[in-house]
Amino acid sequence: MAKDRCEHSWSMTDVRYGFIVIEKCYHCKQERSYFAAEHTPPKEEYREGEHFWDYMGSAQSVQFSLTCDQCGEVVPFSEVLGLMTCSGCTPDCDAHVLSRICEEQRIWVYVALCYQPDIISKNDMGEKLAVLSRYFNDRLRTPGKKILVAPGWLVKDIDICRGAVLKDVGMFQVEPEEVTS
Ligand SMILES: [Zn+2]
Ligand SMILES: [Zn+2]
Ligand SMILES: [Zn+2]
Repeated sequence: MAKDRCEHSWSMTDVRYGFIVIEKCYHCKQERSYFAAEHTPPKEEYREGEHFWDYMGSAQSVQFSLTCDQCGEVVPFSEVLGLMTCSGCTPDCDAHVLSRICEEQRIWVYVALCYQPDIISKNDMGEKLAVLSRYFNDRLRTPGKKILVAPGWLVKDIDICRGAVLKDVGMFQVEPEEVTS
């Protein structure tokens, strides 16, 4: 079957459990985040060239790819560290603003946190997040609800964004947790 004709029926494949790790160089104050597929987050400080990376925090997360059952096309999400909900951190967090607007329309917003510094093209991301949104919506069992996967750069500051990171494949099918302060 020609790939451009395929309707695509996505399945989650290549599931990896691990942690989103945030670290900061105490020399130049640069921050970065990455996915560590380990049982415990690596917390030791280390040197890399002129940088001295210091552990800042971590959250349990899961990485995966989507594979089409019909044509075999694979969409890897290796640049996505995890999916997160924002339930109100600061008034100027765009993820929070978008969640607030969508709440009215019964749409749940997940943001796809990306590697920092951002290495991906924003054009590609729109295409990939459309695939991801469709995957979740196809599996949603709550009538009248929708899921929108938005890009992670909407999050003002991952350190203060009050939300929940999805850490289990099963969590993708249920209502996002209400986060209380
Ligand atoms: Zn397909
Ligand atoms: Zn540095
Ligand atoms: Zn936020």
